[in-house]
Amino acid sequence: MAHRPAPGAPAAQLGGDPSALAAQIVADARALGFHRVGIVPVAPAARHDAYRAWLAAGYAGEMTYLATPEHVAARRDARFLLSGARTLVVCALSYAAPEPALPPGGPRGKIARYARGADYHLVLKEKLARLADCVAVAVGRPVAARACVDTAPLLERDEAERAGLGFVAKNTLLIAPGLGSYVVLGELLLDVAVAATGDEPVRKKCGGCRSCLDACPTGAFVDAFVLDARRCISYLTIENTGAIPRALREAVGTMIFGCDICQEVCPFNAAVDAGHGSSVPAPELAPAPGARAFPELLALLELGAAQFKRFTKRSALRRLHRVQLLRNVCVALGNARDVAAIPALRHALNREPPLVRAHAAWALGRLGDRDGLAGALAIERDAAVREEIEAALGG
Ligand code: SF4
Ligand code: SF4
Repeated sequence: MAHRPAPGAPAAQLGGDPSALAAQIVADARALGFHRVGIVPVAPAARHDAYRAWLAAGYAGEMTYLATPEHVAARRDARFLLSGARTLVVCALSYAAPEPALPPGGPRGKIARYARGADYHLVLKEKLARLADCVAVAVGRPVAARACVDTAPLLERDEAERAGLGFVAKNTLLIAPGLGSYVVLGELLLDVAVAATGDEPVRKKCGGCRSCLDACPTGAFVDAFVLDARRCISYLTIENTGAIPRALREAVGTMIFGCDICQEVCPFNAAVDAGHGSSVPAPELAPAPGARAFPELLALLELGAAQFKRFTKRSALRRLHRVQLLRNVCVALGNARDVAAIPALRHALNREPPLVRAHAAWALGRLGDRDGLAGALAIERDAAVREEIEAALGG
């Protein structure tokens, strides 16, 4: 998209001075609230082969869009995303906030930290568009720019490392010193020549630590730096549109959207959690008021279509369909082991679409409700749900 200087805006005319332009872009990004910013020339991705090997191993699961020729090509060379792109500006925004105490009351689910405030896709895209406007003002002419967040085909963590923001850690996330891994990344491609920022590569990395690899409840790490997304709770509760494999449901615990475990055990994040971080987190990403981190599961199970829309509005939870959320809630209720959930789960087993019914049956099995399951089996017509009920009854 072309970004033009606003009418009457004083043009700084820095287009002929790549170093001065870089300094201006960094200052503008900081003024927009980004915690880290780095600038690099567009270049072929260094770890593209590893990405292709990851795809070939099937670790992307249902995310088949990652393997389309256009997607793979763009991840090799960002010029597929913006013709004539010369410069990549990589920005990081921190969402690190203290973990609240679990509120009292009925069984509660858990939402990943990044998803407790406004949808970071919206926040990043708006800030990057404003940064592109700033670049147009700085060079005094329209510039072609493309804002990318994690839905765009860019190996963003590798690019962030190349731009000096931090390092790609064994848990596959970017760790930015002073911010930990509680950051979201956004990139801006520009058709303008800008000097690279000269950040030193980060020296202190994972070393001999392997806490994240050992803590993952579903065993999703094939090895350091290699994640089998099909086993990751983030994938299972968000990208996955079908059933959560029965063998993994117990390990999902009460997490209903994403998972932070491999970040929470990381020593780089422990320092941030203890208040030793170097930045105040972005206010836009601060947790919404109320029990956003730990919502009441029984209330979620009763959300109608309109209430669901309100609950997910402008948050990253927009990525879920209602049946996915209710599927996740059923699994969490099965793991919370609170028999008070039996009436609501029975109701779901009678009324909701098959995906939810199947997981409600599993949860009722965990709660020992044989009467409810037997009654449902007598009237259930869907083969997959019948199979779940029979499995829950131990038959
Ligand atoms: S997010 Fe959770 S499930 Fe996924 S790799 Fe990390 S610890 Fe494992
Ligand atoms: S827990 Fe240890 S191995 Fe994992 S990302 Fe953090 S420092 Fe690296």
